[in-house]
This record gives sequence, structure tokens and C-alpha cells, in this order.
Amino acid sequence: MQDKKIRFWNKEVTLKNTITVCGRDYSIEFLNNDELNKVGDPDGETSGARIGYCDFITGSIYIDERLDEYMARTTLAHEVAHLLIDTLGVNNFFTKDQIESICDIAAQTHEAMIKKGIQYARRTADDRSSSRTETRADDRKNLHPKRH
Ligand SMILES: [Zn+2]
Repeated sequence: MQDKKIRFWNKEVTLKNTITVCGRDYSIEFLNNDELNKVGDPDGETSGARIGYCDFITGSIYIDERLDEYMARTTLAHEVAHLLIDTLGVNNFFTKDQIESICDIAAQTHEAMIKKGIQYARRTADDRSSSRTETRADDRKNLHPKRH
């Protein structure tokens, strides 16, 4: 499978088709909903729309190909959180509903941290610009534009 190009915080980036979690590489595959339901629920035991699934045994993460960038990103982060829970062996500490909540919280934490990271990278790039004479306070103002 080829790497997928996505827009990420106003920049085109390549979403690699693997991700390393606790030292193990997992493949990332975008599937249509029928395929996703087949891998995620082969016996048709659960109902409702499945948008992501991870297979700890085969080392695979599956994402619904119809998701927009935000949903694909947060779904991937959610599935990575599932893999961490499996890798750390703490599944039995929680109910299924609790695990889903933990994974959602992890995904939103990732969203918040990634945005912060991008802002930091922008500021660092600005600092490297030798022609720039504004102060740090100006930099901070630029990072947090007022919304009207
Ligand atoms: Zn989940």
C-alpha cells in the first residue's frame, strides 16, 4: 500500500503507512466500510458504524477511507491508544466502555499537543530568520491571533 498524502494544519504531509508503537511497527490501511467491518467484526457481532480497528496480533491499524482529515487523524490516535493498552497489558483493568473513553481522551490529547508542536515549530522557524527584528512578545502575538 502507498503512503497517503493529507493536509495537516495547512500543510501537505505524507501519512506513512506504518507507525511505531512501543518499538513495534504497525501497518496503517485505509479500507472501505465493508472491508473494515469484515476485518473488525467478521462474525457481525457488534452493531453501529465502525470507523477504525486495530489488530494487535497482526500489527495492523485499519481506518475508514471516507473519513475527513480530522476524523482520520483522531481515529488513528484512538487506535494507537488501544494498541498501547494492549501492549502495556492493562486491558483487564477497565471495562470496554472505559477503554473507549481512555482512547478518546488520548486522541484529543494528541490533537492538543500536535497543534502546540506546530506552533512551536513555526516560532522556531521565525527565530531563525535573520532579517526579523520583532520581539518575542510580537512572536507570541502572532501565534495567538485574535478571533473576531
Ligand atoms: Zn476504540
